[in-house]
Amino acid sequence: MSELARFRSDVRAWLEASAPMGLRGRPGSELEGVWGGRQWRWENPDQKLWLERCAERGYTAPTWPREVGGGGLSKEEAKVLAEEMRRLQLPPPVIGFGLTMIGPTLLAFGNEEQKREHLPKICRGEIRWCQGYSEPGAGSDLAGLQTRAAPDGNDFLVNGTKVWTSYADKADWIFALVRTDPQAKKQEGITFLLIDMATPGVSVRPIRLISGSSPFCETHFTNVRVPKKNVVHQVNAGWTVAKALLGHERTMVAEAFGSGGGAGGRRGTLGERAKHHLGSENGRLADPVLRDQLAQLEMDTRAFALTMQRARDAAQAGHQPGPESSIFKVYGTEVNMRRQELLVRIAGPQGLGWEGPGFDPEDLATTRDWLRSRGNSIEGGTSEIQRNVIAKRVLGLPD
Ligand SMILES: Cc1cc2nc3c(=O)[nH]c(=O)nc-3n(C[C@H](O)[C@H](O)[C@H](O)COP(=O)(O)OP(=O)(O)OC[C@H]3O[C@@H](n4cnc5c(N)ncnc54)[C@H](O)[C@@H]3O)c2cc1C
Repeated sequence: MSELARFRSDVRAWLEASAPMGLRGRPGSELEGVWGGRQWRWENPDQKLWLERCAERGYTAPTWPREVGGGGLSKEEAKVLAEEMRRLQLPPPVIGFGLTMIGPTLLAFGNEEQKREHLPKICRGEIRWCQGYSEPGAGSDLAGLQTRAAPDGNDFLVNGTKVWTSYADKADWIFALVRTDPQAKKQEGITFLLIDMATPGVSVRPIRLISGSSPFCETHFTNVRVPKKNVVHQVNAGWTVAKALLGHERTMVAEAFGSGGGAGGRRGTLGERAKHHLGSENGRLADPVLRDQLAQLEMDTRAFALTMQRARDAAQAGHQPGPESSIFKVYGTEVNMRRQELLVRIAGPQGLGWEGPGFDPEDLATTRDWLRSRGNSIEGGTSEIQRNVIAKRVLGLPD
């Protein structure tokens, strides 16, 4: 038996013995993902147990080094683990910006102390992170940010406002871009800083979205004292770190839509939803144009899922995402937005409910998911900006 085959059989045996029965066959679509952190309230004891068991073996971050709480697995082993988890249709033990954004960034740019301090807590789901990049006057033009960090002894004093900070009201720490040299060329005066949200002077105000939920906030900093040891990489060299993290972010946003395979989430596949609302003749949809659109979308979704699988494999082999992550971001979000549009069209008037009698929970979710998807082409950098990146840095077109 090869080493990898032995590893598969060990992992399979461990999963059979350790994965809570209540989570099997529930790859995440019907359960709220576990974001963890100090404020997390456990509603499902199986999810808590699952996280603890996976974290003990380093399986929440399979390819991260063991010393920082990861599994130390090779890319082939991590792939086997993912396949075996999929076989039992298990949800990920923990999700969040710690695992997808700041963790990989600290592995590449953090010093030993920062890695030892932050990565194990991410692996155990103890600390939840948010991202402090955008400001009221700096979104697409991110390098124009104005939040100021002025040196004061061993600390910086941070003052300014971030906006659209996803889950700032639920997060424990924020990774933020701050201006440390106002005289320098704008990209050269930025520092990447880690800030504990419990520090005096940090306050958050949730913003309500068109879909009715409040997943993001304004984040204000008033004389917030942050130790200089929380600088990642070097003072005034934060733009390099920021760009690397954006590659991870864009891949993560694309990933959210790249698991593919025709799933329509908790509401079943598109075909099932169409039959539910429109009925079928001899087992198939009567409208040939709609049939064609559904088939095209499913093919595009599957092709994209395979592309994302290749990107995951490359990442596990140590490849840092480059400008190609902009292609994934544009395409993945477009596929999801097409899907949500189609679901609303299929549902007809039932897909435009907001509340009250006459709509079942699936109908209401259809409306809200469609509205939420409008933000897909904005978050993580707008589609226009991604197209600029693709034109310049992938295709090499002139300015
Ligand atoms: C759901 C959601 C979650 C988010 N979460 C976070 C978060 O956690 N942390 C965080 O820091 N930010 C977050 N953001 C903010 C997001 O990164 C910004 O909204 C985005 O970068 C755009 O910036 P802006 O809103 O200031 O728009 P602007 O930059 O003002 O852009 C307005 C319009 O002009 C276009 N435009 C601007 N410049 C150019 C150009 N050079 N060429 C062509 N077109 C251009 C844009 O494409 C857009 O259509 C989130 C946004 C959303 C929608």
